[in-house]
Amino acid sequence: MQQHTFEISPGTTLVQVLNEIGNSEAYRSATDKLLIVYEPNCDSEFLDEERETILKHLPGIKVVAMTVFGPLRSHFIYQKYTRLTLLLFERSSVNIFEANANDKQFSSLGSAWSSKFKKISDLKGILLFTSCATISPAPLIQELQSANPEVPIFGAQAGTQIFYIDQSKIFSSKHVYEKGVIAVTFSGEELEIQTTYCLGWKPLGHTHVITDSDNLGIVSTVDGKPIKELYDKYLDIPFDEHFAQKACAFPLIFKKGNTYIAKIPIHYTENGDLIFSTELKIGTKTWFSYSKPEYLLKETLNGANKVAQFQPQTLLLFACVNRQLFMGGEKASRELNYFSKFFPEACACYGYGEILRTKNGGGILTSSIVAVSFREGPPDPEKIIKPIIDRKLLSKKNQNEFSDQLVSFLEATTEDLNNTIDQLANLAEHDQLTGLYNRRKINEILEYELRKRRQDGDFSILMYDIDFFKNVNDTFGHNVGDQVLIHLSDLVRQSIRNCDVLGRWGGEEFVCILPNTRIEGAKSLAERLRQKVELAKFPPLEKLTISLGITEVLASDTFENLLIRMDNALYDAKKAGRNLYCVR
Ligand code: GH3
Ligand code: MG
Ligand code: MG
Repeated sequence: MQQHTFEISPGTTLVQVLNEIGNSEAYRSATDKLLIVYEPNCDSEFLDEERETILKHLPGIKVVAMTVFGPLRSHFIYQKYTRLTLLLFERSSVNIFEANANDKQFSSLGSAWSSKFKKISDLKGILLFTSCATISPAPLIQELQSANPEVPIFGAQAGTQIFYIDQSKIFSSKHVYEKGVIAVTFSGEELEIQTTYCLGWKPLGHTHVITDSDNLGIVSTVDGKPIKELYDKYLDIPFDEHFAQKACAFPLIFKKGNTYIAKIPIHYTENGDLIFSTELKIGTKTWFSYSKPEYLLKETLNGANKVAQFQPQTLLLFACVNRQLFMGGEKASRELNYFSKFFPEACACYGYGEILRTKNGGGILTSSIVAVSFREGPPDPEKIIKPIIDRKLLSKKNQNEFSDQLVSFLEATTEDLNNTIDQLANLAEHDQLTGLYNRRKINEILEYELRKRRQDGDFSILMYDIDFFKNVNDTFGHNVGDQVLIHLSDLVRQSIRNCDVLGRWGGEEFVCILPNTRIEGAKSLAERLRQKVELAKFPPLEKLTISLGITEVLASDTFENLLIRMDNALYDAKKAGRNLYCVR
């Protein structure tokens, strides 16, 4: 497998490049080939001509193209020239699927394509290009992913020449699409595809929940308040023409699976709503995030080193303009160079949103770099791959700016606050003597289990109380009594399943919630615990026993009558002579 990347900079023409490709031996002998075009010019007629020129010089070529962020303004040039990258396969196959799409079709397309893709043997990856930023391909990505969970989906939403304006386009050998989607499937027994995701922003402060949005990109309230207030209060960024530029340093991020996903606001409406580059759903828990250029560079460097280990024969990079906006052009090209240093043919583009969906989560991303590496056959085990090092990153010299110090300060303060919050939450939920959950937490979990319950016997509860514990205190003192409570708690904790929830109800009374357990299961646990305690040693005591009450939840139970039954069952056990269990 091979990759060849070209740029139509002054001095070369598209036709020259196409002829060079067509005349090469590698091109002619490849079993399958794909030409990917990243085009900064968004004009439909221009694109159609470009498409025809490609087909004229490379008849029958499989081609996919998308528009990218081009010369936005004089000082924001993301990609000046047309970039082409040619993927030549020796033992793998490429298939192109394409469709016009509006919102509805995106989801129905998902099921239609899923069943087609399922028939492709050894499907290893799906490249997606979509145009028209205001139509979210999220439902399509979702469908494709659930049909083939092991197959990564990657690509980009096409970029535009002018921010906010829906003029991004894609094309294939057949059509230029203003609203469309193109999928390329890669399949082959020996084909391996690795995807790598680099972000570099970290959550800052506490969570903010999206409370009103159109579930696409327009958000109106957060935590029940206008989103404008959030940006005023925390970032002091006014809604003016510099808004996007200032806000890009602080993307909103949330967690999907194991992955942090960032969303950047790109504009605001007259009502004070914010327009994000990709969808943000109601109920999403987000944080403001922060970074320093060094963080982004370090994350990308790690990513590039991972990619290098894979020994790619083809490398596609989908990067977010936000990184350029935040770090500046010099550092943004430096991070892309990490990849081209060991793989000069790597081809990068700046789209509207990166796409990466794997079994670990993901979806439509922003602010990130997605690296997709291809290889046919195994890596060379003899090849020694030295990690890439960026000496500039190692030097502390450039890192003493005031803003860096502020970020360090915020980072440390946030960590302190989070630790304090964790400690307080821990205190609020746990009993200090035994370390078990306290009654408040047990009540909370019980209420949750009751809400979740669907039928009789969905769970059971068990309560136990130490027999004649007052005597222990009276004979040996309160300290020994405390030690007995601790020792007993450890013993019971070790005797129950991980999913069982044990807590101290008060004094020497304890409650255990047993999910997915019918009364028979609760009975055998009760008897097992009774015996264990009776046989265990609690020095200096000669003997210790417990009495237990158990009951199974009914579909008709309220919180109160469930507790009354549990209490009565324990009372029965005490009355019946102790060191036994009773059922109600
Ligand atoms: P029964 O078999 O009927 O349960 O008899 P009992 O003596 O265990 O019951 P009672 O309710 O009369 O006494 C419970 C004792 O538990 C009284 C109290 O001093 C002791 N106790 C409650 N909490 C603690 C604690 O945190 N530490 C110690 N050492 N003792 C405690
Ligand atoms: Mg007791
Ligand atoms: Mg008691």
